[in-house]
Amino acid sequence: MMVRARFAPSPTGYLHIGGARTALYAWLFARHQGGQFILRIEDTDRERSTQPAIDAILEGMQWLGLTWDEGPYYQTQRFERYQAVLNQLLESGSAYRCDCSPARLETVREQQRAAGQKPRYDGRCRDSQPLITTNQPSVVRFRNPQQGAVCFDDQIRGPITISNSELDDLVICRSDGTPTYNFCVVVDDWDMKITHVIRGEDHINNTPRQINLLQALGAPIPHYAHLSMILGEDGKKLSKRHGAVSVLQYRDEGYLPQALLNYLLRLGWSHGDQEIFSLEEMQRYFSLAAVNRSASAFNREKLLWLNHHYMNQLPPETVAQQLAWHLQRQAVESRQGPALTEIVRLLAPRYQRLDRLAQASHYFFNEPIALDPEAAHQQLQAAASQPLALAYSKLAALHAWQASAIQEAIQQVAEELSLGLGKVGMPLRVAVTGGLQSPAIEQTLQAVGQRRTLARIEQALAFINEQTASAVDQQAPR
Ligand code: GLU
Repeated sequence: MMVRARFAPSPTGYLHIGGARTALYAWLFARHQGGQFILRIEDTDRERSTQPAIDAILEGMQWLGLTWDEGPYYQTQRFERYQAVLNQLLESGSAYRCDCSPARLETVREQQRAAGQKPRYDGRCRDSQPLITTNQPSVVRFRNPQQGAVCFDDQIRGPITISNSELDDLVICRSDGTPTYNFCVVVDDWDMKITHVIRGEDHINNTPRQINLLQALGAPIPHYAHLSMILGEDGKKLSKRHGAVSVLQYRDEGYLPQALLNYLLRLGWSHGDQEIFSLEEMQRYFSLAAVNRSASAFNREKLLWLNHHYMNQLPPETVAQQLAWHLQRQAVESRQGPALTEIVRLLAPRYQRLDRLAQASHYFFNEPIALDPEAAHQQLQAAASQPLALAYSKLAALHAWQASAIQEAIQQVAEELSLGLGKVGMPLRVAVTGGLQSPAIEQTLQAVGQRRTLARIEQALAFINEQTASAVDQQAPR
C-alpha cells in the first residue's frame, strides 16, 4: 500500500517552529517510505484564516524545501463534498438533527457541573426527531456509539484506549450550515486516502471522535502519530519570546534552511548520537518509532551552532544563493563586486548568521565605503600617511593581484619604514574596509580588487590630509 502522509495547517497564523517540525516529520516519513506527501490548508474558520497566513505557510514550506506531491487542497473549496457526506450520515441514521437551544445546552451543562459530572450533550434529540418545520435553527450531531471503546495504536505513544462513554454526540454541522472542523478532517483524510496522520499532541482528543466518524462512513482508519510539545528553554510552553516565530523570520535572521531542518529534525527525534544529517540521511533514517515521547526544549544556541556549521560546510554556491537574497534585502548591489562564493569562503568562519555576514560584507560592494568614525580616529592619523602612501605605490606595481604578493608588499612597507606589521596593516584595513574588523588583510584586499583598493587608499590619504589641515587651522593664532 502506498503511504500517504499529510500536513494540514490552519492558516490562522504563520508557519512557526512547531508547525514546521510537524510538516518535516510528515514529509520525511513519506519520503522514507517512498510515499506521497499531501498539503491541505484547513481554512474553514473563515474569521481567523487569512490569505497572508496562507502565503506565509506556502513560502515557508518552499523555503525549507518541503515539497508536496499533491495539493494544496483548500477546505473552503470542498463544502459541496462535506454536504454530500453529511446527507449520507443523516440518511443512514449515523447523524441526527438537534434543535436544542444554546440556553438549554447551557442549563444542562450547569446541572452537570453542579453534580460533579463532565459537561456533555445529554442526547435529548438523539432519539426524538425535532420539528424542523418550526424553523427552529438546528445543528447536525454525530451519533457516537454509546458502548465499547475506541482503541488505536499511536505510532509514537503506543496503544491508546478511550471509552465511548467519554465522548458525546459531536456537532458536525452548525446551524448556519457550515461543517465543523473534526468532520471536515475526517472527510478529507478519507477522500485523500491518507494512511498516516502525523500531527501535534493537541489533537489527541480529536482522534477517537474522528475514528468513530470514519467507522460510521465505512472508511479505512489511518495510522495516527501525535508529536509531543516543544517547550521553551525554561520548560514553559513555547512562546514568541522563546523563538516560536514564523519560519520566515528565521530566514530573515540569517538562518539557512538546511540548519533549521537539521535543528527541527533533532528537536524530538534521534539516531544514536548523530547531530548532523544531510537531507539524504534524514530521509534514509527517519522513523516514527524513534520520535521522542516527551516534550523537547527549544535551544537557540544549538540552532546557531548548526547554522555556523552549515554556512561553512555546504558548497559555497549554495550559501551564496541565500547571501544574494540578504544583500538584496539590505539594498546592496552585489553584481559589481567579488563573487559571492568568495565572500562566503572568507567570512563564513567569522559569523553564525548570514544576515550578519551580509552586513559585514558591504565594503566589498559599496562605493564609497562607510567609514567608521572610531576606526578612522584610531587609524587614519598623520602617522599613517607614510605607510599608506608607500603601500599604495607597492600595491600599484603588482602585476598579479594575489594574496601572497599582496602580503609580501605589505611586509616590505613595514620593513622599509621599520614599522611593526600592524602599523601598516591596520590603517590599510580601515582605508579599504572602513572598519577595524575583516579577514586577513591580504585576502581582503585580493577580494576587493586592485583598482578599488588603490582608489580607497587614495581616499584615505585625502581624508588624513583634510583632518591634519583642519587640526592645523584650529591651532593657528587668529
Ligand atoms: N489544522 C490543524 C492545525 O493546524 C491540524 C489538523 C490535523 O493535522 O489533523 O493544528
